[in-house]
Amino acid sequence: MNIIIFGPQGSGKGTQAELIARRRNFPYISTGDIFRYHLKNKTELGQQVAEYVNTGQLVPDELTNKIIQDRINQPDCTVGFVLDGYPRNQKQLEFLSQITTVDYAIVIELSDQEAIKRLSGRLASKCGLSYHLEFNPSQQAGICDKCGDQLFRRDDDQPQAIAQRLAIYHQETEPLFAVYENKGILHRVNGAKTIDEVYQQIEGVISQAAG
Ligand code: AMP
Repeated sequence: MNIIIFGPQGSGKGTQAELIARRRNFPYISTGDIFRYHLKNKTELGQQVAEYVNTGQLVPDELTNKIIQDRINQPDCTVGFVLDGYPRNQKQLEFLSQITTVDYAIVIELSDQEAIKRLSGRLASKCGLSYHLEFNPSQQAGICDKCGDQLFRRDDDQPQAIAQRLAIYHQETEPLFAVYENKGILHRVNGAKTIDEVYQQIEGVISQAAG
């Protein structure tokens, strides 16, 4: 079962995609996580994509498509996978449809206003944990509960980059929904709910559609 989770930044698509993947024992594939891993470890790919990721622009399709192809061709993906953050534009969608099939495309809907509110309060720690000033604060302001390091705002969570990412989502990613809608595999859920409520909506769609 191959699943794509769509949603604007801040919709919790990463969290939901991970939950769905864990529940079914499918690999969770996030292009954003893959790029951030390479950035953090300063690999050659990391250096190639740094400028794009830090300013909220899309990494060139050729690079991104190759990464996805390599990942989907791994043996653990034969049972299915959950994709987060890909495809993001028409070229990527065409590429994906050449290399695999999609069973469910789930859209987590969230207004720009709510997305901005969520993203601008987000704080990260070097150890990988993330917090939110309002919804999930650390015990001591500005300090990570786990590693004690200073919390910081990701470059791509700065206001300018947030606006850039949302604009790309509306212009390049949203038009893809029609393709999956025409295939009858697009399902929309309300993202302005708790993590558990959003998860239940998605599970409802997948289990019902499965049978
Ligand atoms: P995300 O965590 O999914 O918001 O991704 C973080 C950043 O990684 C994006 O702002 C882009 O710079 C890059 N990125 C992630 N997925 C893609 C993709 N499918 N195509 C191009 N760039 C991507």
